[in-house]
Amino acid sequence: FPIEVSVTEVSHAGEPIFVGVIRDITDRKRMDRMKAEFISTVSHELRTPLTSISGALSLMRSNALGGLPPKIEHLVEIALRNCTRLSALVNDLLDIEKLSSGKVTYQMEFWRVEKLVSDAVDDNIGFGETFDVKILAELNGSEHEIYVDRQRFLQILGNFISNAVKFSPKGNSVRLRVSYTNAAARILVIDQGSGIAKEKHDRLFKRFSQVDSSDIRKAGGTGLGLAITKELAEQMGGKTGFDSELGQGSTFWVEFPLVSRDKVAVLKPR
Ligand code: ADP
Repeated sequence: FPIEVSVTEVSHAGEPIFVGVIRDITDRKRMDRMKAEFISTVSHELRTPLTSISGALSLMRSNALGGLPPKIEHLVEIALRNCTRLSALVNDLLDIEKLSSGKVTYQMEFWRVEKLVSDAVDDNIGFGETFDVKILAELNGSEHEIYVDRQRFLQILGNFISNAVKFSPKGNSVRLRVSYTNAAARILVIDQGSGIAKEKHDRLFKRFSQVDSSDIRKAGGTGLGLAITKELAEQMGGKTGFDSELGQGSTFWVEFPLVSRDKVAVLKPR
């Protein structure tokens, strides 16, 4: 049966004594498994009807069935927007579940860092435009490479960028920059938006951690993005972090080791 071992040092009459505790965690493991299965089943079950609802609504909006009166068109728009939000939540829940049970598989390859960064900008420019926020990459033509799953890496940057956009005032810009050390490439997503108060920093990368519950209404989102981002980066051998001050904007970053192609054997995702 699964066990958990912990050792604590106590001192008795000036002598150190080590106390070991062995705990049977069969029940906890079973509960964890049931919870994961529940989340996974519910998310899968939600996905199919959701796809069909948004398909039907898109058809109504497309005018293929004849034009809609403006009031109805507006309602269809709202319903579609909320379908998109719900799909994002379902996808995030599935990702979280797969990440915590080690079921995500990575297609690790070498990619030029700056190519990935400009792809991330291209992917998100349209989203930026809907908030009237520019997304700019400051690149210097470096050939350095990192070893990642491209899609998952773009998901990480996409999450940082969409947050930066959502929490920036209209007309502002979000900048992407890469800084290199001998050993690593750090990709920074810099905004001059609302920033985050110090006392909220600890919670940020935890699940469902919207700093302010009104954020979900103001900016949408699930509060799962950063938790997913951190786990994805770590499972691919990278790390994440941020720097932020209330009212001064935020810089979120992800860092990966710089690797030469002959060293790849040591860089298996975990
Ligand atoms: P969500 O899907 O709600 O964006 P995240 O995990 O990505 O979830 O982010 C959690 C919370 O962290 C956000 O709701 C917001 O309160 C805060 N946050 C994240 N990025 C930024 C940013 N660039 N500027 C201000 N607040 C941010």
